Amino acid sequence: MITGWHRPTRVVVHTKRITDNVRWHLSQLPQGTEIFAVVKANGYGHGAVAVAQAAKAGGATGFCVALLDEALQLRSAGFTEPILILNMVDAHYLPLAIENNFMVTCGNLPWLKEVRDQLAANPKAGTLHLQLKIDSGMGRIGFAEEKNLLEAYNLITQDSQLDLQGVFTHFATADEEDATYYQEQLAKFEKLVAVLPERPRYVHSSNSATALWHHAGVGNVVRLGVSMYGLNPSGTALALDAPLKPALELVSELIQVKLVPSGQGISYGKTYTTPATEWIGTVPIGYADGWLRKMQGFHVLVAGVPCEIIGRVCMDQMMIRLPQEFPIGTKVTLIGENNGQRISVQAVAQHLGTIHYEVCCQLSDRIPRVYQEK
Ligand SMILES: *Cc1c(COP(=O)(O)O)cnc(C)c1O
Repeated sequence: MITGWHRPTRVVVHTKRITDNVRWHLSQLPQGTEIFAVVKANGYGHGAVAVAQAAKAGGATGFCVALLDEALQLRSAGFTEPILILNMVDAHYLPLAIENNFMVTCGNLPWLKEVRDQLAANPKAGTLHLQLKIDSGMGRIGFAEEKNLLEAYNLITQDSQLDLQGVFTHFATADEEDATYYQEQLAKFEKLVAVLPERPRYVHSSNSATALWHHAGVGNVVRLGVSMYGLNPSGTALALDAPLKPALELVSELIQVKLVPSGQGISYGKTYTTPATEWIGTVPIGYADGWLRKMQGFHVLVAGVPCEIIGRVCMDQMMIRLPQEFPIGTKVTLIGENNGQRISVQAVAQHLGTIHYEVCCQLSDRIPRVYQEK
């Protein structure tokens, strides 16, 4: 998608806040624990390269991404740190992973055997760095049984083209009040790790929620995602006793302001009819930008005043009800602070009936990301 630079709608990312969030997390961790900044999905919509830079400035010593392409983006941007690809990469593409010194995730035996065979057919391919994924209860990818895990371990450690760098798991409920399932997963992870004849360099289990509420789980790396961006991993379920600063703002401007007489329809379907004479503003953002139609009825901030989104959100534009006339070009804040008032990503997520992760990720590439170092 083409990015709309010639339009006043912007995602503003405060990079220093990301740096501060990482630094704070690091200060809470036991000595020697590393932070790998999770910058998948374009840094949760914030911009992967800028986030990686900010996280590195705060002390992150590695990165996690979901896709091979996301890892390549970081290498192209000049990052030489360890990069772990969390999703499984098709064996066919692994020469790229070798060439760029990535760590890839090994989640099952059929994949590993295919990889081994492909590499064996190409003795000059180089060494593939791997991390074993343990499925301790997430039910997504990974080894859930000791026998398979040990077979994978032996297969890797006996093959000179394969290099075991780590073992890790992922928790399904670390952001919930009830820690029962978390404890079960933790116990299962520890039990499976104990099966390995030798612990690899990286052993890790913590996402943001685990680092915040479970004393970093077990291991020597934290895969820090959403809380690095300043968001509470649990949404509102668990209180956050941490000085995290939300990094993302979404802003635009009024491009038309008009006094509309009573009884006039606004937007597709005429779902809104002015009940009296009203000042109506038009804002150049819509569902193609990831500002979904369901945002109708929510509000934005103009001069610190909440203004309702009225009528259907269009593909590229939407209308809001203003308390008074404002000049064209007046700032509109959809997420973030405006004259002492604030709209959080969480509030948007709640209106949509989803989680803040999704709100950030769905902001489309059409919106330029701009960076402020404060
Ligand atoms: C996305 C992801 C993370 C980061 O999770 P947050 O909740 O954002 O901290 C960590 N580990 C894995 C395997 C992931 O997929």
